[in-house]
Amino acid sequence: MTDLQRRQDRSPVPSSFDYAPAPEARDIVRLESRYGLFVGGEWLEPKSGEYQPSISPATEEPLAEVAYGGAEDVDLAVTAARDAYENGWSGLRPSERAKYLFRIARILQERSRELAVLESLDGGKPIKESRDVDVPLAAAHFFYYAGWADKLEYAFPNRSPRPIGVAGQIIPWNFPLLMLAWKIAPALAAGNTVVLKPAETTPLTALLFCDVLRQAELPPGVVNIVTGDGRAGAELVKHEGVDKIAFTGSTEVGKAIQRELAGSGKKLTLELGGKAANIIFDDAALDQAVEGIVNGIYFNQGHVCCAGSRLFVQESIYEPVIAKLKRRLGTLRVGDPLDKNTDVGAINSKMQLEKIQELVEAGKEEGAEIYQPPCRLPEKGYWFAPTVFTNVAQSYRIAQEEIFGPVLSVLTFRTPDEAVEKANNTPYGLSAGVWTEKGSRILWMAQKLRAGVVWANTYNRFDPTSPFGGYKESGFGREGGLHGLEPYMQFDASEVKGG
Ligand code: NDP
Repeated sequence: MTDLQRRQDRSPVPSSFDYAPAPEARDIVRLESRYGLFVGGEWLEPKSGEYQPSISPATEEPLAEVAYGGAEDVDLAVTAARDAYENGWSGLRPSERAKYLFRIARILQERSRELAVLESLDGGKPIKESRDVDVPLAAAHFFYYAGWADKLEYAFPNRSPRPIGVAGQIIPWNFPLLMLAWKIAPALAAGNTVVLKPAETTPLTALLFCDVLRQAELPPGVVNIVTGDGRAGAELVKHEGVDKIAFTGSTEVGKAIQRELAGSGKKLTLELGGKAANIIFDDAALDQAVEGIVNGIYFNQGHVCCAGSRLFVQESIYEPVIAKLKRRLGTLRVGDPLDKNTDVGAINSKMQLEKIQELVEAGKEEGAEIYQPPCRLPEKGYWFAPTVFTNVAQSYRIAQEEIFGPVLSVLTFRTPDEAVEKANNTPYGLSAGVWTEKGSRILWMAQKLRAGVVWANTYNRFDPTSPFGGYKESGFGREGGLHGLEPYMQFDASEVKGG
């Protein structure tokens, strides 16, 4: 009997593998014990005098002390950015700007291992993800936008694109270096200067990035990094010297920023939460679809705004899909983010862990059925086992609210119309996945789904050339591709198309 015959209808996934530990060496990362603010190309002590430790969520060990910027610090950073904008960067030949961006991209590649190890240490994500996804994509964004820097008239034909000025950028903790690249690369390519506020729990790769900027000899003040908590973000938003705000984070904070900026004339792009539908039709290649489900929700511990957190399975294939999914979950390795075999790392912070726990409890109380594969979680640090909820009604909190953790809610449908109706039944509209053999159905679904990105027979694919962004409470504006360049440009009034 062949191996295939023996397995019959089972997925080609072994029930268990024993792996020897394969830890990535962390001595490539040399951390300072304390970091100031990166303003005008220099490290400054925060005027606030406040420092807090950034800790590793996998071990709760403090990694370094980081400055908490206040109003005065933000003001200094904005002044440095304005000075750099007016006295050099905006007037630089575009091909010269491009050279800096290419240089940054190449240094990111050269220092990729160091950046990947630090990203996993500070944020808890598996090293294979920071090594194979976050860091290469961050470099790719700098390469991509470097290419546009001296071709802006071709990017926007028959218009006269000009930079805006100083961009204030606020990023979250789920993809710290990658979100930094999504924001800084197009802003600089367009000729703007930047003040960026990293998230409180994951500031360290942004601080290492300052070293990359120095190595690239980027003129002082073109990029300024103000670490701190939400207070620093709020100061940046309301600072009068900032011309544009780009924010990625929660819908709640996004709404507060939009209220604050109403009538101010500042440009704004918001990339907020999501509750994406991953829809599996009965003609889909099921083993591939199950891989797509796993990638959709357990990638980066589910700390992904476009995570496929609502799974819609066509009723006729519900049982085999759930059986295959549960079997596959049993093979996921949860643990040390620096181990090269780890699939699911640590939850980013205690606060986030508590939020996940609260929503999972709500799911159980509302009547959903929980499944977690047997797995031993480390004693120290913040961990949550990969979780699947079945028997979920659309009204349950776990089907409505963004959990931002490794928790999947499974629902069913019978017809394509029903799938669309249920998928769109959410205040969000960031992304969706469709799994089917039929090309015509993919196109039909993509038109009907109110989601900024629709993946077909794949999930969580990112590319710098492709725009990303949402509808409804997932925000507005696009990042990536040419669309991502436009919010960093201004045009003559007669040339503006769509604002
Ligand atoms: P936040 O929206 O609070 O954080 C995003 C960024 O905004 C951080 O840099 C944060 O600083 C900063 N910030 C916080 N308050 C303000 C403010 N008033 N004005 C300006 N900037 C501010 O997200 P959380 O980290 O609190 O996560 C909460 C939930 O948000 C998650 O559980 C998840 O559901 C969702 N989320 C969505 C993300 C996405 O990619 N769409 C990313 C992260 C979270 P600080 O880090 O100090 O709080």
